[in-house]
Amino acid sequence: MAKKSTAKTNYPLIFDGHNDTILAMLSGRSFFEESDKGHIDLPRAQAGGLGGGFFAIFVPSTKPMGGFPGMQRDASGGYRVPLPDPLEHRHALDFTTRALRRLFELEMEAAGKVKIVRTAAELAACLDQGIFAMILHFEGVEALDTNFDTLHVFYQAGLRSVGITWSRPNAFGHGVPFSFPASPDTGPGLTDAGKALVKTCNELGVMLDLSHLNEKGFWDVAALSTAPLVATHSNAHVLAATPRNLTDKQLDAVKETGGVVGVNFHIGFLREDGRSDAETSLTEIVRHAAYMADRIGIDHIALGSDFDGATMPQDLKDAAGLPKLMKALADHGFDHSALQKIAHENWVRVLGETWKN
Ligand SMILES: [Zn+2]
Repeated sequence: MAKKSTAKTNYPLIFDGHNDTILAMLSGRSFFEESDKGHIDLPRAQAGGLGGGFFAIFVPSTKPMGGFPGMQRDASGGYRVPLPDPLEHRHALDFTTRALRRLFELEMEAAGKVKIVRTAAELAACLDQGIFAMILHFEGVEALDTNFDTLHVFYQAGLRSVGITWSRPNAFGHGVPFSFPASPDTGPGLTDAGKALVKTCNELGVMLDLSHLNEKGFWDVAALSTAPLVATHSNAHVLAATPRNLTDKQLDAVKETGGVVGVNFHIGFLREDGRSDAETSLTEIVRHAAYMADRIGIDHIALGSDFDGATMPQDLKDAAGLPKLMKALADHGFDHSALQKIAHENWVRVLGETWKN
């Protein structure tokens, strides 16, 4: 079913798997006025046909993260970046509470133009009516305690998606570093608390996001979870060998469970040489989308921009540039039906199957 956008582009309305825009707003950027900084605000979203997405709460480290992103390169262009230090629970909880307050204030200020959606029906209604839809997502669950008291409270507040780790190790699992080239098989799997988190999220109907999780953790979730497997913002490891991308076996597992992978626009996760060069072409995004569509099917590919958290190809620039990406996908040969699936239909389907209502 076609969704309408408040601002018309010639392409299907886009619902996106990952952004770090809440962090930008905490630093003072407005969501309602067009900025030339970062990637998402409401005017640029409307210009680009972006109807909503997963809004991540990411808790920054309290101290500089060992050399990242100023990494050291070896002679062959590879680089090694150590894992960031773990976060303290109390710091993560305080930051997350402040970010949530900011998000709820934004929803109030929007006076009906923006909604934090909690059910599949609310998501569908927002996309139909041109209301900008936000899904509350935690990127790394350091704000949660291992008894899940906070998970139940945050669920009532609207939390509907969690990434078990943001690369940092935490009480629940271990994430991947940002080294290149490297395998995602970088350490142990989920802890007992992590396995209990999978079960509790399944019971509540909270989506589990596998982007940033290491490979053993991925397979632990695959063995335990009753929901479709989802990686909100990752690409194909065979095309760009960062541990942030998924191996072919991982991609196949996403397909087998009816899940979805959101194609990440970050230049460093697209290029075969792993370089963060802004002159990277939009066709690099198309290359990953096409590879994954060929391997696991068009029903399992979506968008996971990483807007406001990563470096975009310069031709895309920001959310207002999304029609250029849709054109590049169409030029490659994705027909209207395929573009609709990539743009929003696959996200809507998987969330409908994952959430309890
Ligand atoms: Zn991320």
